Amino acid sequence: MIPLRCSNCNKLLGMIDGRAEIKCPKCKTMNEYPKPIKDLAGYGMVLYEDGWVYHNKDRIGWVRPEERDSESPRLWTHVNS
Ligand SMILES: [Zn+2]
Repeated sequence: MIPLRCSNCNKLLGMIDGRAEIKCPKCKTMNEYPKPIKDLAGYGMVLYEDGWVYHNKDRIGWVRPEERDSESPRLWTHVNS
């Protein structure tokens, strides 16, 4: 478990294990963990800082750490099948 703090006011929101989406009761900022780091162009997919890629709320694959900054990271999808 790790402590999740508000990205805006630093209030401790709770201890989490895995993914979380918590609205700060103090400043109303929506906090997501892990943080989404980028949208993958044009497909409605979002890459999160832990390397997982989601389409809407479905986990569709994983990107290797060394490819997370690249323009078109390769998606590893075998993890779900
Ligand atoms: Zn806050």
